[in-house]
Amino acid sequence: MKSRRNFLQKLTLSAVSLPLIPGLKSSSFPGWQKSVFQDRMLRVAIMGLGSYGTRVAEAMQDSKKAKLVGVISGTPSKISAWQEKYNIPSKNCYNYENFDAIKDNPDIDAVYIITPNALHHPQTLRVAAARKHVICEKPMALNAEQGREMVEACKNAGVQLLVGYRMHFEANTLEVIRMREAGEFGEIKFFQGLSGFKIGDPSQWRLNKELAGGGAMMDIGIYSINGARYMIGKEPIWVTAQETKTDPVKFKEGVDETILFQFGFPEGIVASCLSTYSMGNLDRFFLNGTQGFAEMQPSTGYGPIKGKTHKGPLDNPHITHQTVQMDRMAEIILEGETAKVPVDGEEGLKDLIIIDTIYKAVASGRKEPIQLG
Ligand code: NDP
Repeated sequence: MKSRRNFLQKLTLSAVSLPLIPGLKSSSFPGWQKSVFQDRMLRVAIMGLGSYGTRVAEAMQDSKKAKLVGVISGTPSKISAWQEKYNIPSKNCYNYENFDAIKDNPDIDAVYIITPNALHHPQTLRVAAARKHVICEKPMALNAEQGREMVEACKNAGVQLLVGYRMHFEANTLEVIRMREAGEFGEIKFFQGLSGFKIGDPSQWRLNKELAGGGAMMDIGIYSINGARYMIGKEPIWVTAQETKTDPVKFKEGVDETILFQFGFPEGIVASCLSTYSMGNLDRFFLNGTQGFAEMQPSTGYGPIKGKTHKGPLDNPHITHQTVQMDRMAEIILEGETAKVPVDGEEGLKDLIIIDTIYKAVASGRKEPIQLG
């Protein structure tokens, strides 16, 4: 009896430390580890304590599987406020200069990067070098080249790279995907995605090409790109795109205000999408098949996501997206689970390849092939 208990204790201890061992990925663990990880929380440090970081931290309080244990911030006053609010010990607090030392902190499993887009790439490389799992906000980087480097760096470090695609865990979205897979819409023919909002303060980083990498497309248009892919369930093979700009002072060179884009998918399926920083009430998906349809509005906002199909309303209960996301991401990192719609670095990279190609199509005025492979 005693030796069995010793064995179990050893097994639990070694399994618990597995994700911290360089070169080991929890996704490659065999099934036995699932049970020993079940009671463990993913211990997360948030990098960038801004508006979305604040939302994620609030939501994580209700997570059963992920816990906020650390912060990385350039603003000392925020660090002390978060320490008090979330009971974060000083040894788990870092700034942008010293966070590489997180590699020596055994109490943090993953860093959630929620900073301006241009910082995602260098920060991911540093977190990977510190052998911590990375959760990175969308867009994963400024372009596909950076995205590839991030995927490679995390692979080489033996850590996971996940992207904050919260819609991939949202119940009404998953119901539409289930219906499509069950053939309830018949053959899919068309998708429409409208993603936009009216942006305010002209001095914010979202309108600074250096920090944002572009304009509305990087920030909000990406929802229609990603949505077209998970709603149709196939990858686009070509794109055409047209840009309009009504305010060249606010939307400077390289910062797109409005882009219309059209995708071609295999089997003649087409999609028509709009990305904009200059229109409100624009958060709508429409999927049309030979035997039915789904429409969602709002389709990617913080929810509740509302909509209907030809069979009736989409009425799954609303749960805070970021709470569900953190539960599921903890299962992916700690328990080797997989997401129904992927949230890994390769998924983030696909959207970056498509964004690069959309910008190329705007510049060329031609139909551009999309090469995801
Ligand atoms: P904010 O401007 O509100 O916050 C960004 C934070 O990053 C700042 O508060 C700051 O935190 C830190 N930071 C570090 N360097 C800089 C810098 N040079 N300029 C500005 N901030 C800096 O942005 P959001 O929280 O809205 O967006 C952050 C990321 O999250 C973006 O990539 C965005 O696309 C993504 N996002 C995702 C959403 C989703 O639904 N998945 C929704 C909203 C945003 P500190 O003071 O602690 O250093």
